[in-house]
Amino acid sequence: MFRRLLSTAVKSTVPQTADVVIIGGGPAGLTLAAAIKNSPVLKNLNCKLIEGGNLIDPLESFHTTTPEDFMNRVVSLTPATISYLQEIKAWDYVKEERTETYDSIHAYDGVTGSKIEFDSPEIATMCENFNLQSALLQRIKDLNEVSESDLEIVEKTKVIEITTNEETNWPIVQLSNGDSIQTRLLVGCDGFNSPVRKFAGIESRGWSYDRWGIVATMKYKNDAFRYPTGWQRFLKSGPLAQLPLPNGWCSLVWSTTPELANILMKLPEDQFIAMVNAGAKLSPEEMGYLYDLAAKNDDTLIDEINWRLSLFNSKLKPEEESSYPLELESMVTNSRGRFPLRLSHADTYVDERIALVGDAAHTTHPLAGQGLNMGQADVKSLVHTLEVSAQRGLDIGTKFALEPYFSERYPENHVMLGIVDKIHKIYSTDSTPIVMARSFGVDVINNLPFLKDFMVSQISNK
Ligand SMILES: Cc1cc2nc3c(=O)[nH]c(=O)nc-3n(C[C@H](O)[C@H](O)[C@H](O)COP(=O)(O)OP(=O)(O)OC[C@H]3O[C@@H](n4cnc5c(N)ncnc54)[C@H](O)[C@@H]3O)c2cc1C
Repeated sequence: MFRRLLSTAVKSTVPQTADVVIIGGGPAGLTLAAAIKNSPVLKNLNCKLIEGGNLIDPLESFHTTTPEDFMNRVVSLTPATISYLQEIKAWDYVKEERTETYDSIHAYDGVTGSKIEFDSPEIATMCENFNLQSALLQRIKDLNEVSESDLEIVEKTKVIEITTNEETNWPIVQLSNGDSIQTRLLVGCDGFNSPVRKFAGIESRGWSYDRWGIVATMKYKNDAFRYPTGWQRFLKSGPLAQLPLPNGWCSLVWSTTPELANILMKLPEDQFIAMVNAGAKLSPEEMGYLYDLAAKNDDTLIDEINWRLSLFNSKLKPEEESSYPLELESMVTNSRGRFPLRLSHADTYVDERIALVGDAAHTTHPLAGQGLNMGQADVKSLVHTLEVSAQRGLDIGTKFALEPYFSERYPENHVMLGIVDKIHKIYSTDSTPIVMARSFGVDVINNLPFLKDFMVSQISNK
């Protein structure tokens, strides 16, 4: 219905034609582009990638003159994601000296203090989004050099309208530069607000978590021990995660309510650092008091935190010290940013001549570091589906040919979204029975190595 309405507005200019048009040059779109060009079966398809933002110069500049400071958008990549990036030979271009692999995650309850530790070789690897995207761009350039047809990246160009060719039923993408392209297959790697999903009339269901994820790049006082470890403390307002980067740096993801996010974002950087240190150790009551001080711009905030932390530290037994992260002493100036957190899941990932990949199909709370990894698994599955269809002589854009991709990915993503959502909910309450039950559960699981190994294998997709 939606398509029909739009189809009346087709521009009179003659559209270009492509086999695959990918909308979005984020991690999902660039991985899909590299994987298609890397595939012996698909490499000669006429494929274009359209990105609304400025993509190539910033990624080239990252590749040639890598910035000194770590950037604030960092993701934790699972071994499965890295193995796929190795398979398509994009990992060769990742600047590994800027990544950090860790073997241990310590998660602890900010209300009861109960803890769970996951230890397993190479649970995950922290990598800046730009490092990943820049590597993918280099790989695409590489593949273009040896390919009969270039994968064209059209940047700084937005998709402003999508219509349908009435004769062929192929989608026609109208671009802000005046061009239009009709395509056998249109892939939406265009993020949560996906224009492709809207064009296809595919519902996306879910809810806002009413939380922001505050990110920042921070540095520990001392990197001599307990490193590299991923730390996550579940505060009632949301988890506070410190994930390791090389040379004593870490990536902060502090999920919190809009009210507290406003307070934390406005703090001078030295007070913000002190609040993160407080959040890693102090009680909910103390944190409530400190948020009040912070909201009032009280300049005793840092002294108050230091006094409370020294009291806390003085009560720790030597063997308990390694149960908490080291304190932070500095941060990359202006590295604070915040992002809205939400759960969303599209009813389907495929339609006639349409596929959705990555955040266009699903978004999740970052507490388990799964969003981008799920998108990478989508790419792997979609490329395999396209290869099988092409080898069987099918038209790769038909819904029939695309169905196996949806059948493979939807259930897996659905389970992961559900697990992450439940963890968020269980830890966002201070209802006594639930708090007691979750602490009991965590204590039991922490003493069952086989169950912990199973959980690690699920989270890291090993
Ligand atoms: C705080 C935080 C921490 C996170 N940590 C992790 C983690 O540790 N591990 C993990 O796996 N995931 C993590 N995630 C999730 C991860 O960042 C996302 O899942 C991932 O970046 C989504 O990639 P994508 O390519 O699907 O979408 P996006 O990155 O949103 O890319 C979409 C692209 O489409 C383009 N676009 C949109 N509309 C148009 C249009 N009309 N025309 C042209 N182009 C268009 C946009 O410009 C954009 O470049 C985190 C997320 C947050 C918020």
